[in-house]
Amino acid sequence: MNVESVDCLFCKIVAGEIPAQKLYEDDACIAFADIHPQAPVHMLVIPRRHIGSLAHAERTDEPLLGHLLSVAAELAKRQQLAKGFRVVLNIGEQGGQTVDHLHLHVLGGRAMHWPPG
Ligand code: AMP
Ligand code: ZN
Repeated sequence: MNVESVDCLFCKIVAGEIPAQKLYEDDACIAFADIHPQAPVHMLVIPRRHIGSLAHAERTDEPLLGHLLSVAAELAKRQQLAKGFRVVLNIGEQGGQTVDHLHLHVLGGRAMHWPPG
């Protein structure tokens, strides 16, 4: 475990040290229900490996980033979000990121608004 991941909430969920309502897992990522859902369906898809945010991802992470999107789409399908859904990445302070471990929000089950707040 590197220095950043020691105090990382989502690394602790990956390690099983903090419980989460897991919805999916594979070698590269896990998905779980957001603890403060902002829509009837609100899931988080995260890489197992600690990456601080999209801004910390490298070109070599492209396959992983693609995989996270693909898993997001698969989970939306499983949750029967055929009418549509939204995938969000918050990055950094002005992006509204509160947990510094890259994660995709997958929101659905209600109409979304634009522009976001
Ligand atoms: P962000 O603000 O984009 O960094 O999103 C962090 C998300 O993590 C928020 O939607 C929180 O509700 C969610 N969250 C925080 N702690 C937990 C937890 N222990 N289990 C599940 N979701 C969490
Ligand atoms: Zn982490």
